[in-house]
Amino acid sequence: MKALVKRKSEQGLWLEDVPEPICGVNDVLIKVDRTGICGTDVHIYEWDDWAKKTIPVPMVVGHEFVGEVVSVGSNVLDFHPGEVVSGEGHVVCGRCRNCLAGRRHLCAKTEGIGVNRPGAFAEFIALPMTNVWHHADDIDRDTASIFDPFGNAVHTALSFPVLGEDVLITGAGPIGLMAAAVVRHAGARHVVITDVNPWRLKLAEKLGVSRTVDVRKEKLEDVQKELNMSEGFDVGLEMSGNPSAFRDMLANMCHGGKIAMLGIPSSDMAIDWNTVVFNMLTIKGIYGREMYETWYKMTVMLQGGLDISPVITHRMDYTDFEDGFQAMRSGESGKVVLKW
Ligand code: NAD
Ligand code: ZN
Repeated sequence: MKALVKRKSEQGLWLEDVPEPICGVNDVLIKVDRTGICGTDVHIYEWDDWAKKTIPVPMVVGHEFVGEVVSVGSNVLDFHPGEVVSGEGHVVCGRCRNCLAGRRHLCAKTEGIGVNRPGAFAEFIALPMTNVWHHADDIDRDTASIFDPFGNAVHTALSFPVLGEDVLITGAGPIGLMAAAVVRHAGARHVVITDVNPWRLKLAEKLGVSRTVDVRKEKLEDVQKELNMSEGFDVGLEMSGNPSAFRDMLANMCHGGKIAMLGIPSSDMAIDWNTVVFNMLTIKGIYGREMYETWYKMTVMLQGGLDISPVITHRMDYTDFEDGFQAMRSGESGKVVLKW
């Protein structure tokens, strides 16, 4: 089968013929239909320091996808050929304390699809049945292909109650943009999103934000005054991984404010801890998606009218993957979806 492979320890990905995956007794074999390109895939493409120390070469990459079940292992009773499914990108151990308690997203032995085990940028992928999500009939295929990052957005955005609250999102990348649509749908009052990329701030206007802020040109303090907010943001969603964005957020939260932090800083990051202590802030780290409460929430919010489709800005054939990665690297894109 065709697959995008990290073949060599250098920049790039290679479209190659590789053996089809073997479907074990507990596995589901899926014919991949569409895939989303993630920032993680771009790191792997670029072969930065994180990728070098994390990815064994060769590796079939990619983890955001939708496809159809082809066949199932002999222990699998709940999935059937033809069903439309996506894969939860984190494969957990199933045996640790957190897994046994049903808190699978907290498993310390998590493996990543397309990172530590063969991925979804391929014609077929085999996954344990516990990692397969059967989509409801009315879920749009392109949206289904990005349930993985949409799940990051939902997990983060719903970490703290947002009904009636003022929410600050730092970083208008694809996940920040989807989080904006989610908190708007969930009843937030003001949804303010920051970035340093005008193209993405323009795109944010299509996702229901109250106010976009280019932090190179405007100060959040001034935006608060303009919106008649007197005490600071109630909820912060850190979606940039950028230290100055995070510091800006800390300085603009209300006392008792809650921050959910998804963005991954590239190295140590100094903050003013006095602000955290004296303003009694809560900071919660977020990794992946809750299995499978987040997947349930994604589905029902879409069925209830949530529309994240503007975040998909590029659609192309998988053979044009170089153009897709180029679009991602340019910064002038939301999600890029490849058709297989
Ligand atoms: P992205 O890199 O596309 O988006 C980040 C955005 O932050 C960019 O648009 C960038 O211009 C913006 N930014 C840079 N400096 C800024 C500043 N000073 N103020 C405001 N914005 C600034 O990333 P994404 O795919 O949307 O993912 C968001 C973050 O979440 C990334 O850091 C990513 O690594 C991380 N992530 C975490 C998980 C997890 O499970 N924790 C999963 C996926 C992604
Ligand atoms: Zn576990």
